Amino acid sequence: MSLIDNYGRPLTHLRISITSLCNYNCFYCHLEGIEKVNDLLTPNEIGIIAYAASALGIRKFKLTGGEPLLRPDIVDVVKEIASIKPLDLGMTTNGYYLDNLANKLAEAGLMRVNISLPSLNPNKFRVVTGINGLSRVLKGIKAAINAGLNPIKINYVVLKGINDDEFWNMIEYARSIGAILQVIELEPIGISRDVFMKYYISISVFEKMIKEKAVKKIIRYSLHARPVYTLDNGAVVEFVRWFCNPKFCMHCTRLRLTPDGKLKTCIINGDEVDLKYALRPIPKLNLIKKLIIKANYLRKPYNKLSI
Ligand code: SAM
Repeated sequence: MSLIDNYGRPLTHLRISITSLCNYNCFYCHLEGIEKVNDLLTPNEIGIIAYAASALGIRKFKLTGGEPLLRPDIVDVVKEIASIKPLDLGMTTNGYYLDNLANKLAEAGLMRVNISLPSLNPNKFRVVTGINGLSRVLKGIKAAINAGLNPIKINYVVLKGINDDEFWNMIEYARSIGAILQVIELEPIGISRDVFMKYYISISVFEKMIKEKAVKKIIRYSLHARPVYTLDNGAVVEFVRWFCNPKFCMHCTRLRLTPDGKLKTCIINGDEVDLKYALRPIPKLNLIKKLIIKANYLRKPYNKLSI
């Protein structure tokens, strides 16, 4: 049984940010809506929170950052969560360190991975990320496939005038490696209004083009009611469109955990509940559960239906 919030939405997912550090310097990054922090939860503390969450019906976990692969103890973090037998354990990563780590992560219990890929053009890739790393990331993606992580999703945040002309190339690349392309609309978090106004482009236009060609459509009601289309050549394209989209929030099923142990209820307008004092000096499982229940009741949709 899942917890249900005041808007009738079940709570089934926990997105766990394990560091605020990143080796990239993407000018559009929302930083998962968190400040830079130093006092990180240990793998064991993350495992205890996941255990408490699991007892409350939260069985799907996604690791994120900053860049999660920068944590030297990343394999231990994965092992801790895998030990509670989740229904899903994924990670979103920039892929830069994946080549060496993919096998170890899969062995530790990671099931699947989302890899950020802002461009297939090495120069544009460098302009966006500040890193000359495209070929290394492409190697990392291959390593993830070879390690059996499945599905592989390619995260493509569409930026006007930078990579919006790569839409079809991105679809073809993802198809050619058997991955799902996740087309993500730019969110106005962690960036200035000027940057948002300059690079924001609605992805509805892209979705319309795909919808017309698709041979199959499913809706991921389990998270944000994201539409997923299949084309006749086998390409699979998922759309993550938050802007003025009440369905996105109506089907939000998650809480977020910050690297220093706070539960956030929404990336855009979230309240926070601090779990740290329930973890230290010794973990108090019942109190952690009570705080998760409290955070669930604080969840509220950002985009609301207007009647
Ligand atoms: N470093 C990891 C990565 O690259 O996947 C995890 C953190 S990153 C913040 C998580 C995802 O958020 C990435 O797919 C990234 O492209 C996406 N993202 C970053 N800033 C965004 C923004 N302003 N709007 C929408 N998505 C964004």
